[in-house]
This record gives sequence, C-alpha cells and structure tokens, in this order.
Amino acid sequence: MPTRFIFITGGVVSSLGKGLASASLGALLQARGYKVRLRKLDPYLNVDPGTMNPTQHGEVFVTDDGAETDLDLGHYERFTDVSARRSDSVSTGQIYSTLLTKERRGDYLGGTVQVIPHVTDLIKEFVLRDTDDEDFILCEIGGTVGDIEGLPFFEAIRQLGWELGRERVMYIHLTLVPYIAAAKELKTKPTQHSVKELRMIGIQPDILLCRAEREIPLAERRKIALFCNIREESVIAGLDVNSIYEVPRRYSEQGFDKQVLKLFGIEEKAKPDLKKWDEILERVQNPKTEVTVAIVGKYTGIGDAYKSLCEALDHAGIANRAKVNIRWVDAAGFEKEDVNKALSDVDAVLVPGGFGERGVNGKIAAINYARTHNKPYLGICFGMQLAVIEYARDVLGIKDAASTEFAPYNAENNKGPLVGLMTEWQRGGVIETRARGGDLGGTMRLGAYDCDITPGSLAEKIYGSTHISERHRHRYEVNMQYREEFEKSGMVFSGVSPEGHLPEIVELKKHPWFVGVQFHPELKSRPFAPHPLFASFIKAAMAEDKKHKKAA
Ligand code: GLN
Repeated sequence: MPTRFIFITGGVVSSLGKGLASASLGALLQARGYKVRLRKLDPYLNVDPGTMNPTQHGEVFVTDDGAETDLDLGHYERFTDVSARRSDSVSTGQIYSTLLTKERRGDYLGGTVQVIPHVTDLIKEFVLRDTDDEDFILCEIGGTVGDIEGLPFFEAIRQLGWELGRERVMYIHLTLVPYIAAAKELKTKPTQHSVKELRMIGIQPDILLCRAEREIPLAERRKIALFCNIREESVIAGLDVNSIYEVPRRYSEQGFDKQVLKLFGIEEKAKPDLKKWDEILERVQNPKTEVTVAIVGKYTGIGDAYKSLCEALDHAGIANRAKVNIRWVDAAGFEKEDVNKALSDVDAVLVPGGFGERGVNGKIAAINYARTHNKPYLGICFGMQLAVIEYARDVLGIKDAASTEFAPYNAENNKGPLVGLMTEWQRGGVIETRARGGDLGGTMRLGAYDCDITPGSLAEKIYGSTHISERHRHRYEVNMQYREEFEKSGMVFSGVSPEGHLPEIVELKKHPWFVGVQFHPELKSRPFAPHPLFASFIKAAMAEDKKHKKAA
C-alpha cells in the first residue's frame, strides 16, 4: 500500500484538541493494524520551542535524537508508542533558517527567492522526507486557518494534494460548534466560515471534526454537510469527555476511522481492536485508592507546562489502580515556614525540571522537608541537582554548596562547584562538547543517553536492569568529584554515565524512597507502559498514605 498523507488543520479557535484528535486517529489506525507516524508543522517563527516560555507554550518535549519539540509530539508518542524523531517536527523558523543558509550558499543560483515556490517546496520536502514504510503519515498543522504565518503551510499541503493525488491525501478540519445558551441552540456558522476560509485557499476538507459540548442533532449535521460540501457521515462530532483515554473510543464510535478508510477507498476488514484502551479507561474510572503528590515548581498555574509529568503520574496511577491528585506548590515566594502547612498532609513530594534562580530556596526547603520527614521524594533534573545541594548543605556541612546556574562559585576547595557546567562528555564513545556562550537553545545535553546502574541499588530494583537509556535536557551537571563524600554519608550515586563522568541517579540509603534523576523519565512514560520510576514512586506514596490513615 502506498503511504497516505492525512493533514489535520484547525479552525475557529485554538485549544480544541487538535493534537489529541491527531494522536487518537493515529491510535485508531494502529488498532486496525496499520503503521503510522505523526508529524507536527508549527507556523511560528521560533526555530524550535526550546527557548520558548513554558507559560506561553507549554512544556518542551524532547525526542530520543535530541530535538526540542512541541508538546503535541508527546501526545503522539503516548498514544501510538512510535518514538518521534527530529524529522517529525518543523517550524517556520527552521524552514527559513534552512532556506537562508541555502540562499547564502548560492544554491538558488541568484534567482529570486520567494515564499512560493521556495518556502513551500521546503515544507513539502519536510512532509515527505525520512519516512519508513508507514501506511499513514499524519501531519498536524499548528494554529488555525486564517493565521498569516500558516499560509505557506496550507499552500504546501494544497500542492501535495494535487501532486500526490487525492487517493493519497486527505484533509481533516477540526472546528467548534458552540452552544448558545440564550438561544438553546448549537451554532454551525463558525464552522461554515472556517471551511470557507480553507476553500478560499484551495483546500476542500474531506472530514470535519466538530467539537461540541453536546450531541449535534441530525438537522445541524446535515446543514454543516450541505454548506461545507462534506458527506453527512464525514461530519464527526467530538464531544467533551472526562478522560483523554476515552477520546479514541468516542471518535471511533462516531465513525472517524471508518470514514478515513472509506474515503481512501481502503476496504474495512475488521473493527479496530480497542481492548487495551477500554482496559485503561476501566482502571482510570475505578481507582481503588487515592494519593496526593505535591509538585513544587515555578509554573504551577499551567498544567501544560508540565504536561508529560502529569501524564506520567496518571500512568503510574493506572499501574497502581490509584487516583493521583496533584497539589501545586508555587516554589517562588515559598519559605521554610510554609513547608509544614503545604507538605505535611501530602503523600509524596516531587520537584520537577526547572531553570534559573527564582524559586530555588522554596524547592530546597521542600526537599529538606521530604528528606527529614521520610516522605517519598522524586527529583527530576533540577530537582535532582537541588536534592544534592540540599544534602551537601545540611548533611555534609558544605554551607555554600550551589549550582553555578544561580550562584557564582568561589573556590573554597579544589573540587569545583557542586553543580556546574561540564564542557565535555561522551555519547556512544564519541566526545561531545558544549560551546560556552553558544546559541541559546544549542548548549544543552539533549536527547537519549545511556546510564549504568549500580547492582543492588534501589534504582536497579525499580528498573529491573543495570543498563538504561533516558532523555535529557539540561546544561548543568552534578560534579563527580564529590561522589565519595556523599556515598560515605549515605547519598549514593546509583546511576552514572557509561564512561563514569556524569552522575545520573542519586538515592538515599536511609530513607523509604528518595530518588533524584538527571534525566526526564516522564518523557518516556506511556499509558500502556507506565514508567517504572513513577510507578514505584506512587507505590511508595500509597504506603505513606496508609501510614497517615493509621496515625489518624
Ligand atoms: N537548570 C538545570 C540545568 O540546566 C536543570 C534543567 C532541567 O531541569 N531540565 O541543568
């Protein structure tokens, strides 16, 4: 079967769940036995989301091959378990950066360089390159139709429809059908306008996904079909659901995947196998217990800033049949005096990845509380670095232990800062160097790195292995020179990089569950394969919860 391309666009407003709809279609096609890959085309001008503020843009997702991408790639991976690659994410900034390099190099032979055809050609190249033998490539276009920066992308996918033929290309458009309470009616006009906008640039959608708060009556569906040139069965309702794991099943009930096959002229051999989705949903809906985890971070108002983290905690809940409640604790402005009030009744404490000085003291106070009160603690990236710093200050008596990220190092010994910049490390036997003062966003250790785990450690018990690979995204490293001092007093470096230079996991010997990891385990957690670290962390939180209840 030749590879088919499905383009998913959005209209009316953003945040309608285009990423989730794309991921769900991927999962549904997979459940019918097809091989899929998902891609994201982002019209913004940033070269990648690495330097974008998480409050504006949500978390930065990282692929195995070290690309910093939009968080939608996380949805794709979690729903399909297909590991995303650098080549699955592109932005206008990247396209232009490639284009301008080519122009400077003289590749265009002095010709006039234009949006059409040069930018659109590069977009098409991106869509078509680096595919395996997938049956379907799903490409989601960020933003909404009508955005000025989206135009070259829409033109490029229009051209692909023409060049590859409509047997191989499909357009799906996601819109909103709002309910107007005063009129007691669902309104189809915004959808009509959105489709008109698409048709004006030459794209006739094949399927409409209509997000709505309530069932769309047949009359409205017919109206949409008639005015938008779409078959009635291809007007699919996307109703609000309680759990994201319900989305694939609901879309399938509305005939979404069936329509996709039908419009491509592919014979439907059997119904999709959604057993694993139903099982997950059953577990989510019927937890046997619940626990509360405090997340002490900086962007606590915005769940999207910690998307993968929240999902990983949910997966761990699924694994343990527990509902995981999150208590957001804002580390900035959080003082030692607040610790008791904020943390005494939670079952576990987590300090996630983070950057910069703001909130450091609050995070350290929270870590100190978890360590001295035997509360399960998981420190991720910055949360590991700060756990090491807290320990050095409070237990080892290194009063000014810090990271050069937020405090200058004044050489009180010859070991260097406890957490600092390493300029060199190895990956797969090859030396990689960090360019000091290099481009922002280009100076991090990014992507998958191997880690060796000490036999007999808690980490080994959790992973069931002494050799793992996890994804990284950070500039600073814990200084190996201090290892002996730490280990003698009970904080063990139980995971290190294969050449032995970089500490990757630390744990406390005399504590029920205290683990810090330099990498981001949340990026590899899946609903169907919860990450062992998170599963074990939540299990420890459940034990803590039992202790509470007994004491009460
Ligand atoms: N700010 C720290 C560093 O750059 C940690 C980064 C993170 O938590 N992702 O090393």
